[in-house]
Amino acid sequence: MVTRLSLEQKIHGSSPCRAIFTLAFEFLLPYTPPHLLSANFGVASVVKMSKACIKTKMKKILLIIAAIIFLNAPALWCEDASLVMLVNQERRLANDFVPDLVKVGRSDVLLSPDVAEAYVTMRKALQEAAGAHNLRLISGYRSFAHQEEIFFARVEYHMFQGLSPADAFEKTAKYIALPGTSEHQTGLAVDVSDESIGNKIALSFADTFSGRWLAENSWRYGFILRYPKDKKEITRINFEPWHFRYVGIAPARIMRENNWSLEEYYDKICLYDNISGD
Ligand SMILES: [Zn+2]
Repeated sequence: MVTRLSLEQKIHGSSPCRAIFTLAFEFLLPYTPPHLLSANFGVASVVKMSKACIKTKMKKILLIIAAIIFLNAPALWCEDASLVMLVNQERRLANDFVPDLVKVGRSDVLLSPDVAEAYVTMRKALQEAAGAHNLRLISGYRSFAHQEEIFFARVEYHMFQGLSPADAFEKTAKYIALPGTSEHQTGLAVDVSDESIGNKIALSFADTFSGRWLAENSWRYGFILRYPKDKKEITRINFEPWHFRYVGIAPARIMRENNWSLEEYYDKICLYDNISGD
């Protein structure tokens, strides 16, 4: 029969060092992202540190630092909710959600300030790798009203073609995001193309140098390929090789290392419901 000791019993008589470790382990484990459990500075490291910790005071300090890292880990990657906010068919933005915006370079495309800066840095790196400037920023921020306009213009078009209003709506919703469900309203998403395909938004972008380079390297600049081929079941959006979403460098790296979509990242890492509006 297994007797469960109370926390008090567990730390009774322990050295201060051991007590700190026990408390850290008890309280932090349930909040530890799964990938950290297998990562080098996860539980294993803390256990190792705690053993050495009992022997020397120096290691005690290391243990406390490790515990602080542990404590901050989940919040660290989700604390800036505006960067990892999940927007999809289930999680809609409010009609009046408008982020801070700046123009990107000399274009009229608007993005959130951090995203605009990261995009320009990424474009320069791509330009150096390609030896030419072929990437084109086609679209960035789109307001709720603009998305509404695009959506209903297409519904009208299908009705004009002879579909009933319900069918026209359903057909449109298959390939145009409903107002409030478009990531473009966050100011964190870009659609890009390449001169070699006439700056069109097309699947063939995936086969251009820019498309391949971005799929491979965009995470280094904090962007993710938001709707990859192998995640269609989860994102419920078809493969879009032209659509990149800024999430910040640390989250982008974690998603890349674990092959997670933003939905998966959100479920596994973000413990709090941070989105504004519904
Ligand atoms: Zn897009």
